[in-house]
Amino acid sequence: MGAREDLLREAVAMLRHAGTVYSVSPVYETQAWGLTDQPDFLNLALELHTLTPPALLLHMIHDIEKSLGRERVVHWGMRSIDIDILFYGSEIINTDTLTVPHPHMPRRRFVLIPLADIAPDYIHPVTGLSVQDMLNSCEDTQAVALWGRL
Ligand code: ATP
Ligand code: CA
Ligand code: CA
Repeated sequence: MGAREDLLREAVAMLRHAGTVYSVSPVYETQAWGLTDQPDFLNLALELHTLTPPALLLHMIHDIEKSLGRERVVHWGMRSIDIDILFYGSEIINTDTLTVPHPHMPRRRFVLIPLADIAPDYIHPVTGLSVQDMLNSCEDTQAVALWGRL
């Protein structure tokens, strides 16, 4: 929504308060997933080195989303920004508020493609598959087009 790349840039800048941003993938444009009657999304993956525990990191993410104007209207509906934790090291987390690795990652090309740019050999701690393995076996046919860099 709006100046999509500006929102991404601001989100990345704010994540620097939570740790050190090591690598940032190129940006991809993706047809909106789920509900499709909405503008296309920009997606990227980044690597954050942090000492912030996962639950606190999730709180910081929610604060960043709020400050960038996210309002929940419909699930998977239009929103200004969505920040998810894909991996947290090799930790496996299953609480009421947090599931890590992110459960939908293996079936989302818009996640796996930018992730494979920065961490192709990263191993999923539950399945033992690398990010590249997951991308190779992903059946998602959604178009994910290189958009540029921030
Ligand atoms: P999806 O899971 O399909 O990507 P979403 O990102 O649209 O869904 P949100 O509405 O942004 O879902 O988040 C709903 C809740 O999901 C959050 O409040 C958070 O508690 C929870 N959640 C569970 N696991 C994670 C995770 N790995 N990263 C971010 N949020 C998570
Ligand atoms: Ca999400
Ligand atoms: Ca989310």
